[in-house]
Amino acid sequence: QANLDYIRSSIKTIPNYPKEGIMFRDVTSLIEDGKAFAMSVNALAAQYKDKHITKVVGAEARGFIFGAAVANVLGAGFVLARKPNKLPRETVRQSYQLEYGEDELHIHKDALTADDHVLMIDDLIATGGTMEAAVKMVRSLGAKVEDAAFVISLPDLGGLAKLQALDVQAYSLVSFN
Ligand code: IMP
Repeated sequence: QANLDYIRSSIKTIPNYPKEGIMFRDVTSLIEDGKAFAMSVNALAAQYKDKHITKVVGAEARGFIFGAAVANVLGAGFVLARKPNKLPRETVRQSYQLEYGEDELHIHKDALTADDHVLMIDDLIATGGTMEAAVKMVRSLGAKVEDAAFVISLPDLGGLAKLQALDVQAYSLVSFN
């Protein structure tokens, strides 16, 4: 049984990291706690048990940790959304805005087909730029995005609204304002 208060309390907050004025929500402290990690993975997977998810897509790097674990529980495949020059086969790419400048994610072209029902996973949603880029790539390959799930959402930063505009339903275990 997931105890959301326990999960929440396992997340350390680091003020002024990586710079002044930012309250950094550190999910690594949750992952380091075996009970909190297992509860988080199982609680995310439980939402999608009967949804016939064929693939989970997770973004580098912490999206790999939760995404692969959730995929394993669901019996689904896991697809990596990676930074440039990491994937060996042909890829689709999508660039997205960072606070300063731009970054890019890639997915293997042959990793998804029109038959796939995809669950998107990341550790945290802030502005939603990362997840928006990942959703666009999945859709460009013809696969169906069923939902996006996060351990943490920071709703004040607009990411959930951005996903709503893309017609993607979002779910998170805990949120911080
Ligand atoms: P977004 O693209 O603005 O939604 O940012 C989400 C991405 O940035 C996720 O992949 C997170 O891992 C990372 N991120 C942004 N803010 C935080 C934070 O406060 N704690 C941990 N990760 C963060």
